[in-house]
Amino acid sequence: MVHLTHLECPRCGEKLDPTELQNLCPCGAPLLVRYDMEAMKKDVTRADLETGRTDMWRYQKMLPVPTEDIICLGEGMTPVIEAPVLGKDLGVGQFLIKDEGTNPTGTFKARGASAGVSMAKHLGADSVAMPTAGNAGGAWAAYAARAGMDCFIAMPEDAPELTMKECDLFGAKTYLVRGLISDAGAIIKRAVERYGWFDVSTLKEPYRIEGKKTMGLELIGQTGWEMPDAILYPAGGGVGLIGIWKAFEELEALGFIGSERPKMIAVQAEGCAPLVRAFEAGERDSEFWQGAETMAAGIRVPKALGDFLVMDAIYESGGRAVAVSDAEIMEELYKTARMEGMFICPEGAATVAALRKLVADGYLGADDRVMTINTGSGLKYSYVVDIDLPVLDIDDDIEL
Ligand SMILES: *Cc1c(COP(=O)(O)O)cnc(C)c1O
Ligand SMILES: [Zn+2]
Repeated sequence: MVHLTHLECPRCGEKLDPTELQNLCPCGAPLLVRYDMEAMKKDVTRADLETGRTDMWRYQKMLPVPTEDIICLGEGMTPVIEAPVLGKDLGVGQFLIKDEGTNPTGTFKARGASAGVSMAKHLGADSVAMPTAGNAGGAWAAYAARAGMDCFIAMPEDAPELTMKECDLFGAKTYLVRGLISDAGAIIKRAVERYGWFDVSTLKEPYRIEGKKTMGLELIGQTGWEMPDAILYPAGGGVGLIGIWKAFEELEALGFIGSERPKMIAVQAEGCAPLVRAFEAGERDSEFWQGAETMAAGIRVPKALGDFLVMDAIYESGGRAVAVSDAEIMEELYKTARMEGMFICPEGAATVAALRKLVADGYLGADDRVMTINTGSGLKYSYVVDIDLPVLDIDDDIEL
């Protein structure tokens, strides 16, 4: 049973018809999916949230897609792994890593793509088009292939090569752009006007947030229905953070949690930190970041359409926005691997670096139960690890 009622603009309040393909609100803001919460409350039981499917579609009653239209590759239901050694090294009471690297295509982008492609197909689209920093392209290309839809992708020519290969492998028509994701976005915008493709750029379609919302629905069940004190999230467009926040709002409306919230912390790279700049200025909207640069490709987003939604969650939860350097990112990527046996992605490592700063500031510490979202597998970024290994012939002995 689907409880979807309408699409709503969080900026001007405009309501739009969810039975048609929609992009932005006429005012230019992204749209949020709204449900009949009373009907949902009667329909959703605790057992629905704790048992059933072992992918994100366990939460289907809180999602907009009818069963027969679900395009699924086994996304979601990722583990929450305690990292006790790293947690102690960081100086927090408990450190939990929600490891999104186990998703299809190796990142949490699979959640958004599954929901977004399912709805696009449900509403009759036969093609999707998007700019990407890399991982979203890989994910949407995979789900489009499974749905039998055409997919058009533009990505910076310095995006991770593996993600280019994914897009091509899954049959998406893939273009490399001399420029940033924002330049790729401008090219896609012209092309969708010309060819009538459905534009699924970050937050230009409303359903990707719903897919990412399932992270919030999951993590609360996985922590015994007790909110962590803080959640760190590596923010590019900020969709995951917006989604997790929306999950909490809806769980509260259904009576499963109270009004308590974790501190929501958006983490960015020093070379591209528009949300951090907005936070430091106490603003709700961010400014375009000139000359964006960081090895953490997923968070190299100079201006996010949903910035004001990210900032709202940060301010309302008493959270923060924090920037870290690429050197700090690499240091924590290694530490996490050596201390916990986890190859996290650079974006995930950025959140560990941010946590170290927040403990040094006294903002978080030994009393806090902290969760971070490792948004992808380090295996997609093997090029960040430099090796210089000894080579042996058969007769050589190992000398320590
Ligand atoms: C896309 C991406 C992010 C940022 O996600 P947003 O929803 O754009 O904030 C973080 N990490 C990885 C690995 C990504 O692919
Ligand atoms: Zn509007």
